[in-house]
Amino acid sequence: PRQLVWLRNDLRLEDNLALFKASQQGEVLAVFVYSPQQWQAHSWGHLKTAFVLSNLYALQKQLATLNIPLKLLSVADFNATPAALLQLAQELGISGLFFNDEYEFNEQKRDAAVVAAFNQAGIKVERFTDQVIFEPGSIRTGKGDFYTVFTPFYRNWISKLRPEHLVPLPAPAAQAASNLASDALPEFTAYQQLKLWPAGEAAAHQKLQTFCEEVLNLYDQQRDFPAIEGTSQISAYLAAGVISSRQCIAAAQFHSADRFMDKSTGAGVWVSELVWREFYRHLLIGFPRISKGRAFKPTTEKLAWRSLENSKAQRDLEAWKAGKTGFPIIDAAMRQLLETGWMHNRLRMLVAMFLSKNLLIDWRVGEAFFMQHLIDGDLAANNGGWQWAASTGTDAVPYFRLFNPYSQSQRFDPEGKFIRRYVPELAHLNNKDIHQPPVNKLGMDKLGGDLFGNSDELKNQAYPAPIMDLKLSRDRVMQAFEAIK
Ligand code: FAD
Repeated sequence: PRQLVWLRNDLRLEDNLALFKASQQGEVLAVFVYSPQQWQAHSWGHLKTAFVLSNLYALQKQLATLNIPLKLLSVADFNATPAALLQLAQELGISGLFFNDEYEFNEQKRDAAVVAAFNQAGIKVERFTDQVIFEPGSIRTGKGDFYTVFTPFYRNWISKLRPEHLVPLPAPAAQAASNLASDALPEFTAYQQLKLWPAGEAAAHQKLQTFCEEVLNLYDQQRDFPAIEGTSQISAYLAAGVISSRQCIAAAQFHSADRFMDKSTGAGVWVSELVWREFYRHLLIGFPRISKGRAFKPTTEKLAWRSLENSKAQRDLEAWKAGKTGFPIIDAAMRQLLETGWMHNRLRMLVAMFLSKNLLIDWRVGEAFFMQHLIDGDLAANNGGWQWAASTGTDAVPYFRLFNPYSQSQRFDPEGKFIRRYVPELAHLNNKDIHQPPVNKLGMDKLGGDLFGNSDELKNQAYPAPIMDLKLSRDRVMQAFEAIK
């Protein structure tokens, strides 16, 4: 019998449960559904799209070595998917459809429609929990509720973990040559940033191995310093499923002499971050409103965000997007995003809080901007991070807590190394001034966001004065939150 494996965000041969199970039941064909309009509607940026497609190319080559053809279905959006998939399955004489579950609301709805269409046509469907270790919704409080706080979720998660959960599956075995050809894949732009994120499982595993050998056991001490490569930078591969969380946790177990469940070790803290990834997926299933742009805390829907019709708010937003707010650490972070497609976690928290609290701009605006620019854009983690920072989420930072961008900068980039890398126009400043440049050293003649300097050497590269007053911005957001209490 012929089995069809529907590849989605699990673009790998190894440790792919749906692919492995299908291969045990006969001849395997793989299919990928290309739905650019849907991706656009989900705010996927060009870089994320290109990353997914570059990995699809790499996977198609690997599948070919096993004689597994990869078919491509192009459809406008998810609504068009069930009929198109069923038609392909019928043309190919498929007896079973296999896929690994996704947890976003639209994806769930699409998959339910696919299952219904296949069942009606008498083709069996097998779906698997593979994106996370424990199926979302399966880890509950004593009362049977969804956890809304991370720490007890983490404890329960750890208590359920057994050695067999961490045994990655091999790639499927090679099959006899097929008379079916693979399809040509969509073209994509080879953006400069893709060089930083080479495609394919081998590249992902190389990254994981280097991280585990050189950084993992120092992760707890180094992970907050953006100038250091103190984190794995594996997120884009996890988001596209080029590597699995099981493979990552198993590697942490191996390289930490089994101390990966102990949060006083680097490996333990790293694994807890992977559990955050799972936690946010559980929330997607428990609280579908999260996928629909709603706040986790409904009361915060009433917050009076600044209107973007207001030209000052619009200018503030543009300055934030461009990395020209006049706050060096914020600007360095935003420029890292624009230049590389990735941003360090500490900085994501900082810039998200800066936009939603200091600038009082709706977190959804920032969430969408991140999604458009991140190579690792992932609804669950991105939404979770934004709602955490904006204090609209579950287990979020309390509304009255604001990061001070200057002291955060002094603390996490003490020598200004990171700022110097991304904001070269400040590189000449000393280690103290670099965090909060005195306006007269910027060649500015007035405060208030004049982007042009007045000294010759700075003319082309002058740095803006801060776009707002920290103290006033703090009062403003406190009032906004107090008004909805
Ligand atoms: P490491 O520190 O090496 O962690 C390993 C893996 O654990 C990551 O690759 C990621 O898959 C997972 N992880 C780590 N931290 C978190 C977290 N806080 N929440 C969920 N999963 C986590 N992560 C994304 O993958 N995609 C996003 O779109 C995304 N948007 C974010 C937006 C905001 C505002 C914030 C505050 C965080 C966001 N994160 C997102 C979480 C985190 O910042 C990134 O996962 C991390 O920076 C990726 O770098 P790394 O692979 O080196 O992580």
